[in-house]
Amino acid sequence: MDLLNTLVDKGLRRESPTREEALAVLATSDDDLLDVVAAAGKVRRHWFGRRVKLNYLVNLKSGLCPEDCSYCSQRLGSKAEILKYTWLKPDQASRAAAAGVAGGAKRVCLVASGRGPTDRDVDRVSDTIKAIKDQNEAVEVCACLGLLSDGQAERLREAGADAYNHNLNTSEATYGDITTTHTYADRVDTVNKAHAAGLSACSGLIAGMGESDEDLVDVVFSLRELDPDSVPVNFLIPMEGTPLAKEWHLTPQRCLRILAMTRFVCPDVEVRIAGGREVHLRTMQPLALNLANSIFLGDYLTSEGQAGHADLEMIADAGFEVEGADHVTLPGHRAAAGGGGCGSHEGGGTCGSHEGGEGCGSHDGGGACGSVPVSGGRGSAPAAEPASAGEARTDLVAVRRRGAGTDLAPNA
Ligand code: SF4
Repeated sequence: MDLLNTLVDKGLRRESPTREEALAVLATSDDDLLDVVAAAGKVRRHWFGRRVKLNYLVNLKSGLCPEDCSYCSQRLGSKAEILKYTWLKPDQASRAAAAGVAGGAKRVCLVASGRGPTDRDVDRVSDTIKAIKDQNEAVEVCACLGLLSDGQAERLREAGADAYNHNLNTSEATYGDITTTHTYADRVDTVNKAHAAGLSACSGLIAGMGESDEDLVDVVFSLRELDPDSVPVNFLIPMEGTPLAKEWHLTPQRCLRILAMTRFVCPDVEVRIAGGREVHLRTMQPLALNLANSIFLGDYLTSEGQAGHADLEMIADAGFEVEGADHVTLPGHRAAAGGGGCGSHEGGGTCGSHEGGEGCGSHDGGGACGSVPVSGGRGSAPAAEPASAGEARTDLVAVRRRGAGTDLAPNA
């Protein structure tokens, strides 16, 4: 296929596809899907080999947010039966982080619900970063605390944060349909603040909220322009109790096309499969490792993930390897000289967004909740039939009931 040969050539040269080429990837047929995965896989392997970076989420503060992000189980007015708690203490957060690191994670993502941190909140998070780094100096710490005020990114950087996550989530044109309490421009501003402070930028999207192909291409091209080091791709977890609870638009094939398009547009960037991996890719998760070079280990912010050991088995079975702490994630041209692995391209980076709809920055795919009586967590009981729009799928979505904020051991 000429299109795929062109996209591979451009990806190996770090050249952007045209909008028409990106749209054509999303429009490919099921007959061509394996060819699309193989082509994007060449670009992925060129820049990242067969390594998979593991990231681990610690929800520092859960629920009770005054913002109204429609995908989020922690939003104002959410009826989602998620865990609700205020700030974890530094020792509680560092214990949770240690479980993820012991499971193979090289980055810990510290996330808090809310519009943005107060200066007192930045102090709290700074103490938590210190507690984590005292235990393990090599672990990368990414903060995801919402919109930043002047000076806060610099303070987080001084406290030892490596990265900051704040997602664009969707296209500028549709942002107002998803959230009314802050703007797309606010989000761009925070990513830029993180960049300017020398933090590695992490910023991604949520697919599955009813957007068009054009919206998806718009947001991924906007991300390329912002130049983050990592791009989390969330697949909306339609949580019961949120406005998007009935929005089941994604199939495993659609998710693979979205990941392939993101890889072609952001060829040398850490593309991370974030919230919704188990819910929407289901048995196709291993194929997606040919496109993304990074995943979350274990549970998400408010919903449960596949068991941590199952993530590790999947990586090994698919012929990939977990990236070690001694390996710099990004290609040499992006990695900061002497950096700890996040890489911060010319002048820094940014990071962050909540996964798949669960939260602010890197909150999971919308998924925080549900009144879901699934005993084994996400992925434990793949659906025989595809999810369909208009139906609640409580068999696929489980509220997190273990780990941070509970007395139960984390899933890592
Ligand atoms: S995504 Fe973040 S800012 Fe938006 S409602 Fe959820 S916790 Fe609040």
